[in-house]
Amino acid sequence: MQLFDSHAHYEDAMFAADRYERLRRIKDSDIKYILNCCSDVEVMDTVIDIIEKFDFAYGSIGVHPHWTAQTPENYLEKVEKLATHPKVVAIGEIGLDYFWNEPKDLQKKIFVQQLELAQKLDMPVIIHDRDAHEDTIEILEQYKPRGILHRYSGPVNILQRAFDFGMYVSFNNDLTYPAWNKAPIECLKITPWDRLLIETDCPYAPPFERENDRCEATDVARVVKEIARLRGVSEEFVAKVSMENAKRVYRIK
Ligand SMILES: [Zn+2]
Repeated sequence: MQLFDSHAHYEDAMFAADRYERLRRIKDSDIKYILNCCSDVEVMDTVIDIIEKFDFAYGSIGVHPHWTAQTPENYLEKVEKLATHPKVVAIGEIGLDYFWNEPKDLQKKIFVQQLELAQKLDMPVIIHDRDAHEDTIEILEQYKPRGILHRYSGPVNILQRAFDFGMYVSFNNDLTYPAWNKAPIECLKITPWDRLLIETDCPYAPPFERENDRCEATDVARVVKEIARLRGVSEEFVAKVSMENAKRVYRIK
């Protein structure tokens, strides 16, 4: 089986001590590609370093809503410059997060600026939406970007609205947690096979069986297993369609 972890964070400080050793081990696994997603300006150079060192790694560049208050005024210039790197294939992750207390107006401003940049550069976007479903979809419907709702766990009618203009959705190991999996499972049920991606969001979201551990890209195999079980198809089928979809949306040959 060949797998594409469409959303990993090897740039994260939790991987500071063993980032490169863990990335090297991916070569001996079922992981064919990872998309290393960026979260703020401070880690952008690490994302670039990772994608330059490892053939299987592609990257995104962008500012996550949780980091908007600390974002320098001229951040967009850096995003635009790094977005031209041949292995940077998306703008992300961007969006809205009302779980924490970052000012909503600032979040919206930075979200919209990055959506407009993605449109200008003709690149897909990776969307983070936490407890901000209605505002997120309203903004997305104005721009209708190509891209992915990542680790989405909101209402199915909002996901359907995103499918209506061609967006994709990615599922992670939240599917394995009995306490949280109801919304993602409902979303999984209505997801067409040609819109589905898989991800880990590592190091943050281990499978239920290893609740207190870090996770890493290889844990995407557990996501495949759970989707196969829930939808009554083979793991090979889930691996194949999610690989095709990720390569299509990120335009990887
Ligand atoms: Zn992320």
